[in-house]
Amino acid sequence: MNAIEPRTDLQDEASLQLDANGKLRHLLTLKGLDKGLLIDMLDDAEGYLTAPGSQPARSRVLAGRTVANLFFEASTRTRASFDLAGKRLGADVLNLDVNTSSRKKGESILDTIYTLEAMQVDVMVVRDASAGVPAYIARHVLDHVSILNAGESDVSHPTQGLLDVLTIRQHKDSFENLAVAIVGDIRHSRVAMSTSQALTTLGVGELRLISPAVLAPDPESVPGAIISDNLKEGIRDADVVMALRIQRERIGNLDGIPGIDEYFANFGISHESMMHAKPDAIVMHPGPMNRGIEIEGSLADGPRSVITRQVTNGVAVRMAVLDRVGKTMAAR
Ligand code: ASP
Repeated sequence: MNAIEPRTDLQDEASLQLDANGKLRHLLTLKGLDKGLLIDMLDDAEGYLTAPGSQPARSRVLAGRTVANLFFEASTRTRASFDLAGKRLGADVLNLDVNTSSRKKGESILDTIYTLEAMQVDVMVVRDASAGVPAYIARHVLDHVSILNAGESDVSHPTQGLLDVLTIRQHKDSFENLAVAIVGDIRHSRVAMSTSQALTTLGVGELRLISPAVLAPDPESVPGAIISDNLKEGIRDADVVMALRIQRERIGNLDGIPGIDEYFANFGISHESMMHAKPDAIVMHPGPMNRGIEIEGSLADGPRSVITRQVTNGVAVRMAVLDRVGKTMAAR
């Protein structure tokens, strides 16, 4: 089902995102988006958060618009939150069941896209296991259609990056003074890429990427980050510690990947390993969690964890992004 279409040039994705007036039309990557725009999107997302226990925010800004969720890879949080975000903004939301869609019968992704365009879909939210697919689609859609990247291979997951930095901003004073440690399978993680890009643009003090050597990133993909295979040193005095799942579905050959016990002992985020971070350090995880592998269950459920907060922020961020591309559409 994946990797049928040609990989596109990833270099100019950034320029594809803005329209002639500099407004956000597609969200494909956080790379190349300027700090002001990131901050505006975080501020907009704050506006879509309500007090815990109260009703969620709603508006009609997308009334009359149609959003289609096309998830060609598994998802719980991202898919559910895009669904809720679209509905809470008044849009018609179509969740295409890709397992029963014609792509399973060999239809190309572009034919699927053109079919949805013919049904007057305005926004397509796309997750795919192949690199370059969101930008490839963005180059082929009608002028008024927006494409939102909801997870692209190991390359990018921009709304996750935004919700992560929003969560950090809610708990810490300024990015400049922070040491953020991201721990786990950095090499195959689109979350690590997008969150690192957002943190770098926002001027984070120190970004540390910690993993077994076999799961370390290409240093060129994360300029400015400190890459380490030593957990204790990597999370020493960190303000924020984010654990990542091993992306087994993206690893062809698992040889050299430590077994569960060894991995947890050396790279697991636990009460014990958190002793090396600052006493007020927060614990994050994008989900889905593999408890007892990359994170200790009771830590994930404990007071230092902001993992459910990330989920709540995910809906608000997706509302903010949908609202923004909706306004760009309306101005055309
Ligand atoms: N949910 C995140 C993603 O789609 C993280 C993960 O799957 O481990 O990339």
